[in-house]
Amino acid sequence: MARYIGPVCRQCRREGVKLYLKGDRCYSDKCAFSKRGYAPGQHGQGRKKVSEYGIQLREKQKARRIYGVLERQFRAYFDKAERQKGVTGENLLVLLERRLDNVVYRLGFANSRTQARQLVRHGHFTVNGRKVNIPSYLIKAGDVIQVPESSKESPLIKEIAEGLSQKTTPAWLEMSAQDMNGKVVRYPTREEIDIPIQEHLIIELYSR
Ligand code: SF4
Repeated sequence: MARYIGPVCRQCRREGVKLYLKGDRCYSDKCAFSKRGYAPGQHGQGRKKVSEYGIQLREKQKARRIYGVLERQFRAYFDKAERQKGVTGENLLVLLERRLDNVVYRLGFANSRTQARQLVRHGHFTVNGRKVNIPSYLIKAGDVIQVPESSKESPLIKEIAEGLSQKTTPAWLEMSAQDMNGKVVRYPTREEIDIPIQEHLIIELYSR
């Protein structure tokens, strides 16, 4: 499956905000955005007048980068969100939150969505008892995500398990650090989705 393979921190610098794509490093003084909080490239420090279209585009790119989704798939989420009842912008964010890699990250079973994606790809999770290795798999309310016994021996999973007790789980999820499993109690509300996105700008962009 296609994914962005360029320099990760460059994406934060381009969007002018920390996107927290690298786990622990994002909270350390090694963060590239903390050191160089301006756009990459020769003209990155120059002043730029941004058009309305530019503002909408950047907001969409920011959301794509946070969730690690490429344009075509992102557009497909938008189309699906539009067909659902309710507010399209909120529907879009809830769909993105329902991705298995995001849920794994939210449960604390990975330090970043990128790491969650990799762990899912490597088959370290089951959903309702069945192995699922598709990061974009959409979970449903009531689904149970489990780290199977065979994966608990992995050094990386062991390291993550040790830090689980210090992590907080959002109210729409339940997590058992001891059993290394989590349950989707319900879908998140907009207020519970703590990402710096103005989704109405994305809707305006796609409605042009
Ligand atoms: Fe972004 Fe994290 Fe890189 Fe900082 S360390 S620039 S927050 S990805």
